[in-house]
Amino acid sequence: MGEILCLNAGSSSLKFAVFASVPVARRIVAGQIEDIGLEPHLILRDAEGATIAEQRWPEANKATHETLLVTLLDQIEEQFARELVAVGHRVVHGGSDFTAPVRIDSDVLSRLDALCPLAPLHQSHNLSAVRTIMAARPGLPQIACFDTAFHHGQPAVATRLALPRVLTAAGMRRYGFHGISYEYIARRLGELDPRFGGRVIVAHLGNGASLCAMQNGRSVDTTMGFTALDGLVMGTRCGALDPGAVLFLLQEKNMIPDAVEHLLYNESGLLGVSGLSSDMRVLLDSDAPFAREAIELFVWQIARQASALIASLGGLDGLVFTAGIGENAPAIRSLVGQRLGWLGLEIDEKANDRGDPVISAPSSRVTVRVIPTDEERMIAFHTAERIGCARTMAKN
Ligand code: AMP
Repeated sequence: MGEILCLNAGSSSLKFAVFASVPVARRIVAGQIEDIGLEPHLILRDAEGATIAEQRWPEANKATHETLLVTLLDQIEEQFARELVAVGHRVVHGGSDFTAPVRIDSDVLSRLDALCPLAPLHQSHNLSAVRTIMAARPGLPQIACFDTAFHHGQPAVATRLALPRVLTAAGMRRYGFHGISYEYIARRLGELDPRFGGRVIVAHLGNGASLCAMQNGRSVDTTMGFTALDGLVMGTRCGALDPGAVLFLLQEKNMIPDAVEHLLYNESGLLGVSGLSSDMRVLLDSDAPFAREAIELFVWQIARQASALIASLGGLDGLVFTAGIGENAPAIRSLVGQRLGWLGLEIDEKANDRGDPVISAPSSRVTVRVIPTDEERMIAFHTAERIGCARTMAKN
């Protein structure tokens, strides 16, 4: 019995959701604090997604990540969670050691700290939230769920980088990310289609974007690699890039490593190519030629990299779109479908425009679905499981 708080702590945002632990993962409330460091702003939503409260902290300098999290924790315990039994965290990197959710103690925390350089945009923020809760509620169990864990069972060849063995032995390998989302989709697919077991590509297209090739619900290959910078064109990240381009920036453009990092993580991708925005809605609404080019490149890379994953799978039976763009942008789904027409994949444009759960035509050789992801529910489920109260996951 009791409630579970799920946290996804980023550099300027803190997303959260509260779930009942029995039945496991019934959502009670969710929300986010945005613009931490500027003018923090809290939005609370009920289980149906309707906004139920908003709050602002105009004196930003007094509202740090820590004070905001403790205020939120107090508020949640007062209003929504009479008996908070555990906190589940999204932790981006579990390295080679953490292949499943784990209860966090000081030893686990220091091993996760060592992985911060592998996910510079996320890991340290994820772990700061763990520390804040350890200090504020010392006895409260905290569980880490990793974005890398779902990919752990991939064949070794899919994880190898063609670097000298001394480096690969030191942890330089392809890990893959968005694993919490992919695990949730794999479970949903299993529920939706009992025949599921075929070769499926899941396209997680949000601000961060990647593809996962799955067989029998397990990850076989994925587009993100050593870091979450690899693979598809993203909102502000460049995706796959000739490593020689990085050398060029360092040696010929005399950029320092921190500036290259900022360029590749924050100024590239859809934002860099369009010169306009990282937000797909803005690009789809724009007539600017560079916005068109950014969309064209986004779609081109999805189709190109999906085709490589089809080789890893030896064919394709299903394609799933998920996350902000995948769930809400029929124009992008349609363009990707056209580029993958060589597979015998056909989109039913009316079903696609309606956002139906299945958007492929009956004659399509590949079943194409839209499945909303729910990383928080997956985290709640694992957290309940780790503290011993999960059996089955509620559907809403
Ligand atoms: P996420 O990271 O999953 O929250 O996804 C964020 C991305 O989804 C942004 O690029 C948004 O522009 C995009 N997105 C959200 N809603 C829509 C929509 N209705 N149409 C097109 N893109 C959308």
